[in-house]
Amino acid sequence: MKAYRGALLRFDDQHQPVYDSDGLLVIGPDAQGERQLVHAAGAYDALAGRFPDVAVEDVRGQLIAPGFVDLHVHYPQTDVIGAPAPGLLPWLENYTYPHESRFADKAYARSVADFFFDELMRHGVTTALTFATSHPASVDAAFEAAQARGLRFITGKVLQDRHSPDGVRDDTQQSLADTEALIRRWHGVGRLGYAITPRFAPTSTEAQLRGAGEIAARHPDVWIQSHVAENRDEIRWAMELFPGARSYLGVYDDVGLLRERAIYAHCIHLDGEDRQLMARSGAAAAVSPTSNLFLGSGFFDYVQADDHGMRYGLASDVGGGTSFSPFHTMLAAYYVGREGQTKTGLSLTPSRLWWQHTAGAARALGLEGVIGNLQPGCEADFVVLDPQATPLLARKTAQADSLDELLFALIVLGDDRVVRRCVVDGRTA
Ligand SMILES: [Zn+2]
Repeated sequence: MKAYRGALLRFDDQHQPVYDSDGLLVIGPDAQGERQLVHAAGAYDALAGRFPDVAVEDVRGQLIAPGFVDLHVHYPQTDVIGAPAPGLLPWLENYTYPHESRFADKAYARSVADFFFDELMRHGVTTALTFATSHPASVDAAFEAAQARGLRFITGKVLQDRHSPDGVRDDTQQSLADTEALIRRWHGVGRLGYAITPRFAPTSTEAQLRGAGEIAARHPDVWIQSHVAENRDEIRWAMELFPGARSYLGVYDDVGLLRERAIYAHCIHLDGEDRQLMARSGAAAAVSPTSNLFLGSGFFDYVQADDHGMRYGLASDVGGGTSFSPFHTMLAAYYVGREGQTKTGLSLTPSRLWWQHTAGAARALGLEGVIGNLQPGCEADFVVLDPQATPLLARKTAQADSLDELLFALIVLGDDRVVRRCVVDGRTA
């Protein structure tokens, strides 16, 4: 066992922050000796006596917090970040597809995956639900790279059998067979999980979507990930292709792709019935604010989502998103929440933003109590953050009179310089 003494942040069952300015986090192996878990977390004075023989590392002055969970990101788009394009569809055609076609080459895919994971950990992200490309080799490469680092990680082969150029378009039957084979090879191996991954409704035939839904029904603990209702052109296109569907989201519902463990990126232009359907099915939204602002797609409606009881969490959506940094994503989510011209604007509290990128994202994945938190029993993935990482942060956080003021200073002014340490499965990365 090992312990860390410092300021300590975690969340309770009501999603409220629990903060100890002088806290103790005790980690150690699980009963099988396979994984490092949190054994105790709380105030130093209350806990220290229970663990007299455990070595304590002193990180006072720094904040121990749950590792961040990125609910939607594309590792093959690491090099697409910051590509100039007038909106989503030209961005896909001119930058994303040509780039993704290179991932048929497993060695190339592995080199990008290695960079991607190192970058995530540098930013304090310890779990990501990630798109691969349509090439099975891109999935093997990512899982092998995650396994080498001990990360809890979820990805899947992209399904796209139409309206996609040569090099990324797949074959309907082969794509479904590949998905089944990849589930058998990787799902539940150590900390790895598989996600059935239709890119989005317009690039799949109905046969491919139905096949994906059948696989999802056979494997209820496998994840599902896709995109929905990101921008108006895309929605128009989806409705032309699926004229019988009630809505764009309804296309996925019709084929059995809405259920627990299904994560849909964006969910911006939904109506009340769609939001009810999201809530009822247990599917969750991956709110991707830097991407939505970058591509001018629109603003996620937090008030409507909460009114309908939708689950959601935060996501970088790189390469549509502009940063791997959870701080940048949380700040962009604040901007999106504030926007009050197209929907009701609100001020998301700093601890609420933080929850959305940790325990809330874990809950959306069905991994509540497993990752994204530091309560006893959670896996030992966490970050040690330096509130004095820059002169301005040091000045600002020294004046913080409350947890929310401390967290908001980090959200507004923080970046990778704040992340002093990223601990994955109890080991410093
Ligand atoms: Zn995306």
